[in-house]
Amino acid sequence: MNVTSLGIMGGTFDPIHYGHLIAAECARLEFGLDRVIFIPARIPPHKDASGILNEDIRYHMVEMAILNNPAFEVSDLEIKRGGISYTIDTIEYYRSAYPGCRIFFIMGLDSLFIMDTWKDAERLAGLCRFIVVTRPGYNIKDEEQMREKLPPIFWKHTDFIQIPGLDISSSDIRERVSTGKPIRYMLPEEVESYIHNNNLYREGQV
Ligand code: ATP
Ligand code: MG
Repeated sequence: MNVTSLGIMGGTFDPIHYGHLIAAECARLEFGLDRVIFIPARIPPHKDASGILNEDIRYHMVEMAILNNPAFEVSDLEIKRGGISYTIDTIEYYRSAYPGCRIFFIMGLDSLFIMDTWKDAERLAGLCRFIVVTRPGYNIKDEEQMREKLPPIFWKHTDFIQIPGLDISSSDIRERVSTGKPIRYMLPEEVESYIHNNNLYREGQV
């Protein structure tokens, strides 16, 4: 398949849930993306890496979650690269691997709010477009304050889309599992079973 537009969905995916999936699918449909590639971070720059589940397990959960969508893929690029997973390195890779292809980096509104702390944010904005999706709990009006923090090139390269709000987060799912609460309908069934069968996120592990 000749890919002319590519969505990149970065994240820790600890674990992947329907909030990630609906964000990627809405962005894909709205912008007519040929494909969306989910890229689990090896070491996310903005989180305490010590509490994060092993990258191969997180990768496997993404693999299971996207199986029934032929437009979705998972990549081990950041896992294989090792070290801290900077988006700039990933986007540079895709720019050279898919010359002439339009690259869209998909993220939730909460990620936008910390964008000024991202490595080489300005250069990154010149290499791709950002698709920012709404997320319950984060107000698009706060964007006004962000405008002062982020350079103009960034805003020129950003599109916002409203998606059906799912107030689901990986941290809440981990917390729920560790306290014995149900997580059904928050993430694909296969991933839920995998978590339970392998005793992931049990007490003391979160
Ligand atoms: P955690 O609670 O551990 O931070 P998370 O649910 O925020 O996990 P991440 O892996 O940190 O998941 O997020 C990856 C990307 O997906 C981010 O850009 C984030 O904004 C976006 N995202 C995650 N959950 C949602 C959601 N419910 N709605 C919209 N976007 C989301
Ligand atoms: Mg997060």
